[in-house]
Amino acid sequence: MLSAFPFQNLSKLCVHTITTKSWAIEVAADKYAKAGVKGITVWRDALAGRSPGQVGARIRDRGLEIVSLCRGGFFAGYTATERRAAIDENRRAIAEAKALGAPLIVLVCGAVPGQKLSESRKQIQEGIAAILPDCAAMEIKLAIEPLHPMYADSRSAINTLAQANDMCEALASPLVGVAVDVYHVWWDPALEAEIARCGRIGKIFAYHVCDWRTPTIDLLNDRGLMGEGCIPLRRIRSWVEAAGFSGFNEVEVFSNRLWAMNQDEYLQQIVRAYSEFV
Ligand code: ZN
Repeated sequence: MLSAFPFQNLSKLCVHTITTKSWAIEVAADKYAKAGVKGITVWRDALAGRSPGQVGARIRDRGLEIVSLCRGGFFAGYTATERRAAIDENRRAIAEAKALGAPLIVLVCGAVPGQKLSESRKQIQEGIAAILPDCAAMEIKLAIEPLHPMYADSRSAINTLAQANDMCEALASPLVGVAVDVYHVWWDPALEAEIARCGRIGKIFAYHVCDWRTPTIDLLNDRGLMGEGCIPLRRIRSWVEAAGFSGFNEVEVFSNRLWAMNQDEYLQQIVRAYSEFV
């Protein structure tokens, strides 16, 4: 019985549906709740073929808080047509978040190979600005998630927390903040200072945890469970909390290795690792 585990202080524990991606979202919601998880971040693929409103009601019925919808973004494109299509897709994500009852959308901002990163950042800023009226109408916030520079070719031209903070300041909207994901930013010598800066402007909207494995054998799908790697999780959490953040610690792990194991046992490991290392 997962619920019999004597773990304390799970009140800030959130799990992303992608972390246990083989489970249908209804199954994930049931099992997370039984394990003592308090929050859930829903990935859009988990909503496929479902009514977001019904899914949201079911999740809340299990006592879970919906922390965010993952993900929007991918604003960069070679052509205006591609960029307009991205904006339309983000508008669909905003409507989904509203129906689901998620207050926040996490943005993987985008990049395209061969295009200058500065140009991609300009397009990202324009893309976010274009959807802000929709966000305001639907009361949905956006979190810019800086991604590790190994993804700068094709996933995000925003690679440091400094760049994310700069963009927040440029957009100057109360609806736009950042998601601090330790996997992407742990190595940054400016991290402590940028988290403090982010706190001063009230912009930490989300905090994602996992670990960095050595060696990392897959750039996308070999994240570690907390405690399996070298990220100073407690230290970074202390910085984030010192900056005023009091939201959920969101477990977001993409791992072919962990997806292959028994997912009930894996969920037990997640709760243990959270208790011990986050
Ligand atoms: Zn993340």
